[in-house]
Amino acid sequence: MAKYTSKINKIRSFALSLIFIGFVVMYGGIYFRNHPLIMTIFMILGLFFIIASTIVYFWIGMLSTKAIQVVCPNCNKPTKMLGRVDMCMYCREPLTLDPELEGKEFDEKYNRKK
Ligand SMILES: [Zn+2]
Repeated sequence: MAKYTSKINKIRSFALSLIFIGFVVMYGGIYFRNHPLIMTIFMILGLFFIIASTIVYFWIGMLSTKAIQVVCPNCNKPTKMLGRVDMCMYCREPLTLDPELEGKEFDEKYNRKK
């Protein structure tokens, strides 16, 4: 069975990995300092990853404002949810706004529009 994490957390870790990739790529460019053209390509590529990450972080900010703040029934902490179903950021309790889906097994496909 696949493991689910809160969507915001998932996007945040994706943004973090983009920064990491960006730095690794830029660091890789140092090995090509005798080939300025290759080094430049590495630097631009690395910079591209970091810019992409900034955009993703900006997107998280946008999503966060759209997210609905709810109090988790399981751990009583305020958490944010996106879409019809999401997961608590703290205890991974599945949350839903749709009474029809209550009690059903957590499934991200409920978020897809028909
Ligand atoms: Zn919780």
